[in-house]
Formats: sequence, structure tokens, C-alpha cells
Amino acid sequence: MKQKDIAALLDEPACEHNKKAKSGCAKPKPGATAGGCAFDGAQIALLPIVDVAHIVHGSIACAGSAWDNRGTRSTGPTLFKLGMTTDLTEQDVIMGRGEKRLFHGIKQAVETYHPAAVFVYNTCVPALVGDDIEAVCKAAAERWGTPVIPVDAAGFYGTKNLGNRIAGETMVKRVCGTREPDPVPAGIERDGFKVHDITLIGEYNIAGELWHVLPVLDELGLRVLCTLSGDARFREVQTMHRSKANMMVCSKAMINVARKLKDAYGTPWFEGSFYGVADMSQALRDFARLIDDADLTRRTEALIAREEARMDQALAPWRERLAGKRALLYTGGVKSWSVISALQDLGMTVVATGTRKSTEEDKARIRELMGDDAPMLEDGNPRALLDQYRRFDADIMIAGGRNMYTALKARIPFLDINQEREFGYAGYDGMLELARQLCVTLESPIWAAVRSAPPWATRTKADVVGAPSPARSAEQTIAAPEVATHA
Ligand code: SF4
Repeated sequence: MKQKDIAALLDEPACEHNKKAKSGCAKPKPGATAGGCAFDGAQIALLPIVDVAHIVHGSIACAGSAWDNRGTRSTGPTLFKLGMTTDLTEQDVIMGRGEKRLFHGIKQAVETYHPAAVFVYNTCVPALVGDDIEAVCKAAAERWGTPVIPVDAAGFYGTKNLGNRIAGETMVKRVCGTREPDPVPAGIERDGFKVHDITLIGEYNIAGELWHVLPVLDELGLRVLCTLSGDARFREVQTMHRSKANMMVCSKAMINVARKLKDAYGTPWFEGSFYGVADMSQALRDFARLIDDADLTRRTEALIAREEARMDQALAPWRERLAGKRALLYTGGVKSWSVISALQDLGMTVVATGTRKSTEEDKARIRELMGDDAPMLEDGNPRALLDQYRRFDADIMIAGGRNMYTALKARIPFLDINQEREFGYAGYDGMLELARQLCVTLESPIWAAVRSAPPWATRTKADVVGAPSPARSAEQTIAAPEVATHA
């Protein structure tokens, strides 16, 4: 990828912090890829497209360290779960065999698995050597008649976030607009009920949470042409250009996709969240507002009224148990504010929130929800997190999986909110799951057990000398084995 293309992606005009005098995302500092390199970002953004063969062109370590680290789920094909790599070795580099290996790798993937398409991810070694993956992909596509898409996001180009954008850019440039959507089945549209096509960008179907949302959209006649990229099919990505309204679910990851679809096809978009009753309702209203169909607006308001009444009733017992509990939230992007709203909805107090990966817009939303003095945590190192937890007298830490052991070693309740989690929290029903998981975590008897002193630490000298403990008595009743001594 050329320098100017990388610079253009970093200077995304739709990004809030690029609207200031000095624009452009910060260049990565040495070590910045420890949080995921550009290749990692591109791969996790596209890996949830389930019927594609994802081939990592590079050394085995690139594929091994980044594979399948999002808990994304599929309703059908599982090809995306199969790790494919060209496994370049020193010999391949010395002998200049990288392109040949890639061509044969694509052949094997196509002939063995018959994928809808093949995505080839470039990594540091072939990018440095200068493998022409574009030419190899073109030749392979012509040879086997299957779309082969190069995703040029070598790790050293920049951060994981840049990789997300390269992935989105690749989809817009090479895949969107290459097929028309299927016609709406006859008989569905009648009596003023009209089906509208929409797209969700940056929704990854973590733990299957999208399935909490789809029935609601379906009821409203909002046909999801594509989710980029949770549980997506290649043929769906091809039709994204026909969407009537796009929702940007994760603010930073693929904002360039939403903007470029607007520039190219005039599709309006908004940024929203499916976490929490209020935000879920707002997302539905935003779709109705952008689509501007009076019947849809009326049906949306009726559905919101019905669902909110149902949730009020269903959440009442959970709200009683969670009222007044204090949470320290450390996550990034859209979740830094959307989860606040969900927790407040449950009657909890968010004492501080992490903003390391948040945009200026995210921070403005946090202030709206928590007030102008909202404590925002930029530093996520374990010591700082625990200090803040104690300083704010929190009851639970809600963060990503990498913070789990920080919390557990400190013997404090922890709930995983990031991509590795096991439970889906999106949509109205996701809110019930979130409430249940919070209660299960906070009320677990394990916390009292691990915080109390162990029996051997509380035993007095008199216990030891005068009244042996049951364990000790038991030991003494067991006859000592005969020990043979050899002179
Ligand atoms: S692409 Fe580069 S930075 Fe990323 S895992 Fe591979 S070698 Fe490491």
C-alpha cells in the first residue's frame, strides 16, 4: 500500500478529532502494535464474513497469534473458522517463492472448500520482500473464476485501527456494488407496509448478540442487506450500496465505510448502539428518521412503546438487586458510552470509564451521561485500574478479557464486556442477559470466600499446641509409613 493511501486513511474527515486544526490520526509509536497490528485489525474486521476463505500470506506466527480472537458466531457456514496461511519460511523468502506459494494456497482453498470468495491478507514479511499479491490474486481469480480479494494491511503500516479502516476501504473499493440485492419476496409489501433495506457497519455478532436485534428489525420491515461483518456472507457485502440507511455501530473501526458509501451512493448514516433499552429505541428511531416513511415511524413508535413496557416489567426484579451498585468501566470506542447508558438504565452508578480508544465524540457522549466532571481513564495498566477501583469504592470492574486476571487476582468481581465474552448484550433481550450476568457476578459467594482469611492464617498458638485441628488429627491417625534406611 502506498504512503499516500495510508495517510488518507489516517486523515478520515468523518472522524471528530480530524476536524481540528491539526488533523490526521497519530502515527504508531514503537511498541504500539502490541495492542494489535494493522494486519490483525484488518483480519478481525473481515474474519466474521463466514463463507470466505481467509488466507494469511506470511509466516505462521502472524496467523497463529491473531486467529479467531473475536467471539463472533455464524448461522451457517463455518469456513471462517478454518485457519489458512501460506506459512512462509526463510527458504521461501531466500528463494523468492512467496508468490508461488500464495498462488498454490489459493488453488488449494478454492478446490477443497469452494468458498464464495478468497481474502488474502498481506503481512510484514511479504510486504517487505515485495510480493505482488495484487497480481497473484488477479491471476488466481481469472484462473478459478472465484473472487480473490487482496487485503494489503501489513503489520508495520500502523495500528489495529488503521487495519480496520484498510479492511473497510477494501470492501468499499472491491466488493460493494458488484451485485444487486435479491428482490423482496412477493406478498410481503401490502397495506402501506414497505420493506426498507439497511446496513449495519461495525457490528460483529459477538456471542450471537445480533440475533437479539434482528427479530425487531424484521418486524419493522427493515431488511438487513449486510452486517459488516458479523455473520455476513460475501454476496451480502456486494449489495451494501443499495442500503437506504446505514448504522455505524462501532465509531472508530469503519467510519470510513459509512462516509464513503454516503459520498458514492448518497446513503445517509448515523452512529448508534444496541446496548441498553434507551439506546436500542434510539437506534430504531434513527432508522425511521433517515428513511422518512410515515408508516415506518408510526410502527416504530408502537414497537418501542410495547418493548419498553415489556422490559420495564422484566427488568424490575433485576433493577432492585442492582440498584446503587457502583461499576468501574474500562472499555473502548462506542462501548465507553453505550454501556454506561445500559448500566444507568439498570440503576447502577458508573464511577469512571476508560477512554483510551474513544473519539472526541465518544467523550462528549460520556459527559452527557455522567456529567462534565466524569472521570475518564486513559491509563489502563493494572495498577492504575485497581487504584481507581478502590478510590471510587466500586463494586465491580467491567472491562475486556485482558483485564480479567487483574481483577480476579485482586479478588474483585469482574464482567467481560469485550469481544471474547460468552454472552450477547445487544438489543432489548440482551439487556436482560446483561442484568442477569451482573447479578450472577456480584452476588457470587466466591467473593466472600476468597476475601476471608484462610483457616490456617487465623489459627492461634493454643490451637496448634493444645487442640490440634481436625486436619492435623487426621494426619496423626494415619500411621507413618515404614521408612527403609540404607547405610
Ligand atoms: S503482520 Fe507483522 S506485526 Fe503483524 S503479526 Fe505479522 S509480523 Fe507481526
